[in-house]
Amino acid sequence: MRTSAIIVAAGSGRRLGAGQPKAFVSLGGRTLLARSLATVAALRELFEVVITVPPGMETEARAEARRAGMTIPVKITAGGIERQDSVRIALSLTSAESDLVVIHDAARPFASPALFERCIEAAARCGGAIAAIPVADTLKRVEKNMIEATLPRAGLYQAQTPQAFRRRLLIDAHERARAAGITATDDADLVERLGQRVEIVEAAALNLKITTRSDLQIAEAIAATLEKQETP
Ligand code: C5P
Repeated sequence: MRTSAIIVAAGSGRRLGAGQPKAFVSLGGRTLLARSLATVAALRELFEVVITVPPGMETEARAEARRAGMTIPVKITAGGIERQDSVRIALSLTSAESDLVVIHDAARPFASPALFERCIEAAARCGGAIAAIPVADTLKRVEKNMIEATLPRAGLYQAQTPQAFRRRLLIDAHERARAAGITATDDADLVERLGQRVEIVEAAALNLKITTRSDLQIAEAIAATLEKQETP
C-alpha cells in the first residue's frame, strides 16, 4: 500500500518559550524537525512527505529535508491556526495515489521507525491505528485545586503520534469535522466520530511530547544517553 507521511511542525512553541518555533529548537545538535525527518527517511516504501511549518519557515524546512537526505518527494507548506487546520492543509497536498497517511508531531522527537511501521501495518489492516501508552498514574478530577473524584484508570491510554489511517477515511473525517465545527486534539478522535474503529499500537513513554522547558530538559538527557549508546 502506498503511504504518505505528514509531519506537523507549524506550532509556535509558545509554552516552550524558546524564542523560535518549537520544531526548529535544537535537541542534542539537531532540531526536532530534523529528528522526525531522519526517522521518516528510514521508513521502507514511503511514497512522499508533507511538512507543515510556521509561515516564513519554508526555506529552513527545505534545508532540513535536504540535510536528512530525503530521496522521496518532500512538500512543504505553511500550517494553519490550529493543529487540525495544519493536518487538513497537509492532507490536501498528499497524492491521490496514496492509500494510507501517517501523521506525526515534530514535537515527539524519539518515535522510532519501527513504531511508524507498526502503526502503518495496523492501519492497512483495520483502517486506523495510533501509538499510545497505558495510563500509569492514578487519575484525579480536580476543581479549584480540590479533588472531586478518582477515576478508574483501567483501559485508559494516552494517545501519541504516529497515527496512521486510510487516506480517504481521514479526508472524510476532516471534511465532516470542518462542516460540523468540531475541533479535536488528535486525528483519531475525528475518525472515531465516523464510527470507524481505531487500533492501539502500544508505544513507549520514551516517545514523549515536548511542550515545556522541563520536557526539553528531559529530552536533552534522553538524547545524550541515546547518543552514548550509539557511539561505542
Ligand atoms: O502545540 P502542540 O505541541 O500540541 O502541537 C502538536 C504538533 O502539532 C506540533 O508538532 C506542532 O508543531 C504541530 N502544530 C501544527 N500547526 C499548528 C499547531 C501545532 O502543525 N497550528
